[in-house]
Amino acid sequence: MSIQTLINAAKDYLPDLDVDRLHRAFSFAEMAHSGQIRKDGETPYIQHPLSAAYFLTKLRVDEDTLIACLLHDVPEDTEYTLDDLEERFGENVRFLVEGITKLSKVHYRNDMEARQIESLKKLFIHSAQDPRTILIKLADRLHNMSTLDAIPKPEKRARIARETLEIYVPIANLLGIWELKSQLEDYCFKALHPKDYEHIERLINESDFNKVEYIEKSSEAIKKILDTKGIPYHNIEGRQKTHFSIFQKMLRGKSFTQINDFVGLRIIVDNVDSCYQALGAIHQHFTPKIGRFKDYIAVPKNNGYQSIHTTVFGPSGRLTEIQIRSYDMHLENEYGVAAHYFYRQEPESEKMQERMRKKYSWVDQILEMQREADDNEGFLKGLKFDFFKDRIFVFTPKGDVVDLPMDASAIDFAFHIHTDIGRKAVKAELNGQSVPLGTPLKNGDVLYIQTSEESPGPQVDWLDRVHTNLARNKIREYLREKDRDNLTKDAKRLLDSKLKMFGHAGIKSLTPTEVGAIQEYFSSEDLEKIYLEIASGNIDP
Ligand code: MN
Repeated sequence: MSIQTLINAAKDYLPDLDVDRLHRAFSFAEMAHSGQIRKDGETPYIQHPLSAAYFLTKLRVDEDTLIACLLHDVPEDTEYTLDDLEERFGENVRFLVEGITKLSKVHYRNDMEARQIESLKKLFIHSAQDPRTILIKLADRLHNMSTLDAIPKPEKRARIARETLEIYVPIANLLGIWELKSQLEDYCFKALHPKDYEHIERLINESDFNKVEYIEKSSEAIKKILDTKGIPYHNIEGRQKTHFSIFQKMLRGKSFTQINDFVGLRIIVDNVDSCYQALGAIHQHFTPKIGRFKDYIAVPKNNGYQSIHTTVFGPSGRLTEIQIRSYDMHLENEYGVAAHYFYRQEPESEKMQERMRKKYSWVDQILEMQREADDNEGFLKGLKFDFFKDRIFVFTPKGDVVDLPMDASAIDFAFHIHTDIGRKAVKAELNGQSVPLGTPLKNGDVLYIQTSEESPGPQVDWLDRVHTNLARNKIREYLREKDRDNLTKDAKRLLDSKLKMFGHAGIKSLTPTEVGAIQEYFSSEDLEKIYLEIASGNIDP
């Protein structure tokens, strides 16, 4: 791909694009990465940021986002710094690239627990600060997934695919960027289940139904109809099912032929009026199938989705699903939050854009869009309850992330990693410096907790230094246990001396019969309880 391809795609929706600035960003990135090649051993590195930026033009991102995307790997992988970028391309670009650099601090591991994965996702949203950062990161991942085959080790490919599936796919879903989500999913499917993927690939190749040809034929037919009626349209696209979605449908018991024979077309027109005109024209030419007509323009879905759906007996009588929508609806349906953020840069929608931005902060937007979606439910709950409270994200030296409320201390952190780490904690090393365990933490801190078997254990005053319920409960639990231990010891000492006063050999010499008699006398099997009763003065030793 060449920079010109990117510029052409961007100019299409950004008439005021500073072409020269984009050229400079490209040349700078190319120079900074010069000599670096991609994993396939031949592609120059610059192709990676360039392809990612090209994808972003589909989401109609602004100029700074495209430039930041071209430069996104510069601070990490070359000798140039964020300062160098700011000097050349301004504060805004620096801010975006810095966001990307922060995101790359987070490391995913195969054996992560669900809780840690949740934290990672939250960290993502949280540290991005600006939705554009996430979009760049997603485009970056999409391109890396499209070139995943170049990585020779299958375990490594699988790890990257799992990370994509567990972190990036849900985020793309959350932001409502369906196209990106399904592409990522398909790459993951290929990497994680290569045999199933190949099987479906084979079925598609062997199938005698030439879908591509049919889509072309029926698109032509529809174009002719619209032209004859003088209905302007933006685009007519055929919809191909991804391997993954075919696979899922087959798992649910559908046959390949049933799925593959099904053709979808999408007609994108300029405005709402044209939607209904196009619908009328199509129903005049092709008989609609009863019961398959849905008007989601007049009655949008709960998540805001708008489109007309109809299934007709298309050319050669084949059932064809047709979706009709305006361009604005299309952007919003397919690109979710991105569409809102980069609303069409036209004078009449300028006001609309302003209104959108005022109406929703982008987080509200996410919540709004996701409210109706049923997957990611746990994630959403987590977001709802935690997101608006201030959270901080603290790293272990290995790069695991723990998310904590603001003002949380090293003690909170220790208990969040593991109860044992909290109980045996003796020292904290914060960003390489030794600090007291009660030290409050800041976002982005790297913390190491040193433990010891000889640790005196949690102290009562720790309760004043923690800010999470988890740590507080664990400390209380420990203190209660310790209390019991001490009380039992006291009771045993008292009983021992009393026994000796009466000429008995002492507590250690109690025979099973004697213990049995004691238990029977107090109607309790639990000797421990009897000791506690002695310690608290309810039973006279
Ligand atoms: Mn990259």
